[in-house]
Amino acid sequence: MEKPEYLFKNGKRLDGRKLDEFRKMKIKVDVIDNAEGSAEVEFGKTRVVAAVYGPRELHPKHLVMSDRALLRAHYDMLSFSVEDRKRPGPGRREVEISKVLSEAFRSVVALDRFPRTGIDVFVKVVQADASTRITGLNAASVALAHAGIPMRSMVTGVTFGKIYDDKGKTYMAVDVFKPEDQWGMADVAYAKAWNTGEVVLLQMDGDVTKEEFMEGKKMADKAMEYVYKEQVKALKSVYEVE
Ligand code: ADP
Repeated sequence: MEKPEYLFKNGKRLDGRKLDEFRKMKIKVDVIDNAEGSAEVEFGKTRVVAAVYGPRELHPKHLVMSDRALLRAHYDMLSFSVEDRKRPGPGRREVEISKVLSEAFRSVVALDRFPRTGIDVFVKVVQADASTRITGLNAASVALAHAGIPMRSMVTGVTFGKIYDDKGKTYMAVDVFKPEDQWGMADVAYAKAWNTGEVVLLQMDGDVTKEEFMEGKKMADKAMEYVYKEQVKALKSVYEVE
């Protein structure tokens, strides 16, 4: 796709959404039989599965910590998840995303309850239409809760970005999809621990002013509440007795 003349016109983004509008969201819990906990989250066409294994014996042994568990997130984009086949295996991008996701959860999971063990969170992108790390973070959060692993809080994330109209004026928008990620002036991945308000992930690509950042964050905070409620609703649906 060539760079479009605009990403926003007559109050609508390229997919018809308003600036503060989320894509259609779906959250399913318990999608992998062999995992301790699992979830699948869709933000529009972006679809990610998360599966949690552990607490279990940790390998390699030299990583074992006597006072807590080691939580590791493993982010991966499947070859068929993008338009041009993605080369399988972790590249620099996958290593980076795995690291920021691991760090986001280490601050909320009660790792001291499970000394000398490992908790693995596999995040597999089945279909990518941008915002995959945040979609994966939301899936991982639900999967950890489903696994019964104690957390101080659910973790919830949202992306926002800066897009332009046909006159070159710019706007902040939530939940960026591929053309906005690719052609917009900036995009931000942002996640919070819901109970404490602690920011557990914040990454920006591109440039925004402080005012623009605050405007986008305000929209994202509102959207986050919506995502959080959907996470809780999905979890409750698994435990409700008919
Ligand atoms: P995020 O998916 O968290 O927004 P990036 O900003 O790195 O992370 O990627 C944005 C989007 O670019 C991805 O969601 C995906 O749609 C696309 N993309 C990333 N890596 C590749 C790749 N190797 N091949 C094709 N498309 C890719």
